[in-house]
Amino acid sequence: MTFGGRRGAGPEAGLVDLHTHTSFSDGLFSPEELVAEAKSIGLGAVAVTDHDSMGGVERAIAAGRAARVEVVPGVEMSCTHSGVDLHMLGYYIDHRAGAAGEFFELLRVKRAERAELMVRKLTELGVKVSWERVRELAGGGAVGRPHVAQAVFETGVVPNADTVFSRYIGYDGPAYVPKMQLSPAEAVEFIHKHGGLAVVAHPGNCGNDNAVYAAIEAGVDGLEVWHPDHGQKHVDHYTEMARKNKLLLTGGSDCHGGRKQGRVYLGQVMVPYKYLQGLKNRRAGGAETPNTRPQSPK
Ligand code: AMP
Ligand code: ZN
Ligand code: FE
Ligand code: FE
Repeated sequence: MTFGGRRGAGPEAGLVDLHTHTSFSDGLFSPEELVAEAKSIGLGAVAVTDHDSMGGVERAIAAGRAARVEVVPGVEMSCTHSGVDLHMLGYYIDHRAGAAGEFFELLRVKRAERAELMVRKLTELGVKVSWERVRELAGGGAVGRPHVAQAVFETGVVPNADTVFSRYIGYDGPAYVPKMQLSPAEAVEFIHKHGGLAVVAHPGNCGNDNAVYAAIEAGVDGLEVWHPDHGQKHVDHYTEMARKNKLLLTGGSDCHGGRKQGRVYLGQVMVPYKYLQGLKNRRAGGAETPNTRPQSPK
């Protein structure tokens, strides 16, 4: 079962999008624009899940209050397990207490150092791109490869920003530099320590399930089953994995406001409100405890 998006139609009122980015990382929408867009397509709730930043959350909540759109505070962190990348969503982290924010600040400093290193590598490869421009595009938010790609695209050496990924900064590219790496267990521990719920983002992108099982062993709360990168096989496979391990299911568009391969739009993947309610119930302590001895779907 994939929940495809239909813009503007009626029954979306009970639908939610639990994975989006704003200008506080590599999305193009401001928090207010994201909420306005959510309102216009009739979403009941939208989660703001920027990379390594919860800086846009308060503004989105304020806009959501005015527009009567529920805003779920979130973040997306990057992990690695035996060389495999895994993204971890954290929902309802207590971001106002400050302690979590300090760690995100460290991750963003490391991101900036990494992006500068990618700029240096590109320069060595003969691609003249300015670090100043990359920083400007990031606008003070978490610097990511999409900002580097945009800056290179603007110099006119490639037909589009996606080509910068395929030629230079994709995982196997000559100018790729990894981010500061956390293990899935460290990310789960951090999210739980700060009152949040941890969900493996787009597990189908991990390449193999070992990293997903490491997250389950670490006590992850859920799996993002519905995502634009997931086909029906992924949906079936991770739904079954979640069932066997007593995990929650979530889904979302991973909308970057246009700045993503394939131009993913808000609400392209939506899920019924009951999946958000599942997160809220677990947060309130009223749900089953996940298995931490991973059970395979087979
Ligand atoms: P980073 O967190 O800095 O490694 O950047 C990851 C982001 O880059 C993802 O969230 C996507 O928005 C974007 N991205 C990753 N791979 C590609 C690709 N092949 N083409 C375009 N955008 C991509
Ligand atoms: Zn992104
Ligand atoms: Fe991701
Ligand atoms: Fe994302």
